[in-house]
Amino acid sequence: MTDFTATRAAFHLPEGVIYLDGNSLGPLPRAASDRMARTMRDEWGEMLITGWNRAGWMAQPRGLGDRIGRLIGAEPGHVVLGDTLSIKVYQALAAALEMRPERRVILSDSGNFPSDLYMAEGLIRAFGRGHELRVVAPEAVAEAITEEVAVTLLTEVDYRTGRLHDMTDLTARAHAAGAVTIWDLAHSAGALPVDVAGAGADFAVGCTYKYLNGGPGAPAFIYVAPRHAEMAFPALSGWLGHEAPFAFEPRYRAGAGIERMRVGTPPVLAMAALDAALDIWDGVDMAALRRRSIELSELFIAEVGAACPGLTLASPRDAARRGSQVSFRHEEGYAIIQALIARGVIGDFRTPDILRFGFTPLYLGHGEVRAAAGHLAEIMTERLWDRPEYRIRAAVT
Ligand SMILES: *Cc1c(COP(=O)(O)O)cnc(C)c1O
Repeated sequence: MTDFTATRAAFHLPEGVIYLDGNSLGPLPRAASDRMARTMRDEWGEMLITGWNRAGWMAQPRGLGDRIGRLIGAEPGHVVLGDTLSIKVYQALAAALEMRPERRVILSDSGNFPSDLYMAEGLIRAFGRGHELRVVAPEAVAEAITEEVAVTLLTEVDYRTGRLHDMTDLTARAHAAGAVTIWDLAHSAGALPVDVAGAGADFAVGCTYKYLNGGPGAPAFIYVAPRHAEMAFPALSGWLGHEAPFAFEPRYRAGAGIERMRVGTPPVLAMAALDAALDIWDGVDMAALRRRSIELSELFIAEVGAACPGLTLASPRDAARRGSQVSFRHEEGYAIIQALIARGVIGDFRTPDILRFGFTPLYLGHGEVRAAAGHLAEIMTERLWDRPEYRIRAAVT
């Protein structure tokens, strides 16, 4: 059993705020401020450069990788932290393409996050071998997995609609067609049970600042299946992925297993905050989390559906086909979200017309979900969104 009262007490949530945006940036774990301050004062301050050995900074990317590995069903020793998710997408894709040198197609879908697609485009240009990025509708992915496909580059949960791909089925189809799979878990890790090993995924990547609550700019993670770990070739061949970084050899030799997916110096301070965030996850049973996430999402859909006929559900109605977010469409979506934020209910807007709400059981309960739906209903029935100041677009939506 997971004690959600205890997990909630572990977060700082500002007074008067109902936070439905933990799918974009998780809130501050109370322990993170002290942990970071301690790392700065006692480690950086006192140990200076000896902290790499004495405080174990160099081993952190692997240690934290294993803690995240538990949440995504990875075998111990096959996940490492570092860089940002976009970089990890590039790394995984480059390594995966090298595994299918005779094929030219990268298959993705139109629900994927643009950065994943941009990174693929950039990599295609850098490789200069005539690869093609083929983007199909999410529902058409299964059929589009043909023997031309070198790599499938898919995000399990659609960032806009919350639609959940069937990782096990699509991975099996990809393997049957001889393709290599990369799963982006940006909206899965910490949102629902994931089993990369059970599904047979070849590569997986994800970020730690969304559902995992590692803080803005927290490092990303990458998983390479054990069967590929010693032969996946890193395109970003940095010194910390070298077999012997401190031998300072002039030529690159890939490190052992997942070590080779490291690039450069790890973000020690950011990892201190993430370590504190992961302490909260230690007591969480992912099946219990999923049950509660579905309860909260279903409650929100029911309340909003009954009170706001002008909003169209953009997420799958079947909870089994959704991640841990619920989205609605409305042409004035941006203004509606601003009106909600003005009342302390924080969700976000995704172009062109998506109102997006994340349901994060670690710190959200039924009362808040009902209250948020009540605010949304008032804003809709009284057209409170219809004010010029709610139409002014900020740089970050
Ligand atoms: C959030 C997100 C990203 C962001 O990448 P960063 O490099 O961490 O900024 C990339 N891909 C997906 C699918 C995401 O949801």
